[in-house]
Amino acid sequence: MGLRYSSYIDHPKSKHAKFVTYGCCHCRTHLSSSAQIMSKDYRGTTGDAYLMNKVVNVFEGNKETRHMLTGRYIVCDILCHMCRNLVGWKYLESDRKDQRYKEGKYILELQTICKVH
Ligand SMILES: [Zn+2]
Repeated sequence: MGLRYSSYIDHPKSKHAKFVTYGCCHCRTHLSSSAQIMSKDYRGTTGDAYLMNKVVNVFEGNKETRHMLTGRYIVCDILCHMCRNLVGWKYLESDRKDQRYKEGKYILELQTICKVH
């Protein structure tokens, strides 16, 4: 019987009043949702950013090593697959054990996304 209730997750208007879908600010392609936010306490290259569990409809750019406040990471940029707007990056590997939870997770820069319906 539990399965029957899980389908409501996709119907935010009925059950999740605060559910927000995030899209590309240029073409409004859906990228992620408020249900995927792991942390709002991040900084991107353009300002505030969110750490997201899952992001869809993006291309992954070339792998590169980036030095950040919390250490060295191998990351790749993520771009909207419709308009190639740069929307953030994906963490691929971390040097530090305590930062490994970010591996496979995404940063979305708030400047590059918008709320869509
Ligand atoms: Zn786009």
